[in-house]
Amino acid sequence: MSSQTVPTPPAPIPNADSRLFWEACARDELLLRQCKGCGKLHYPPRYLCPHCWSDSLDWTPSMGKGAVYSFTVMHRAPTPDFAGRVPYVVALVDLEEGPRMMANIVGDDALDTEVGDRVRVCYEVRPGGSKVPQFKRDKS
Ligand SMILES: [Zn+2]
Repeated sequence: MSSQTVPTPPAPIPNADSRLFWEACARDELLLRQCKGCGKLHYPPRYLCPHCWSDSLDWTPSMGKGAVYSFTVMHRAPTPDFAGRVPYVVALVDLEEGPRMMANIVGDDALDTEVGDRVRVCYEVRPGGSKVPQFKRDKS
């Protein structure tokens, strides 16, 4: 028996722009920023709208459904924390609401991911109980 433990990817480090986003993830909710000026949505959360530079922003829930825009399979861990999960899929997911997110595709069939696959958000627990949004292929 090995006494080595499998390394765990790190917990997110919230900042003033993202704190409410991460608090929502902990409740299994995906929030997007919506501009009160131009109405457009964006991700990741910023303190200025990247479309019109307004600082008047709101939060709006996402359904957490989207499609794979592009992806790659990681065969080498970028840091030792990720060594326990190679190979794994890093994808760009276009949410139905519009914003594009980078996340992992997880699940037993993750390595079968193809561009255009429908995906649905799920939440991965990290150290300290925080949760990171990831996606699973949606077969429904
Ligand atoms: Zn705007």
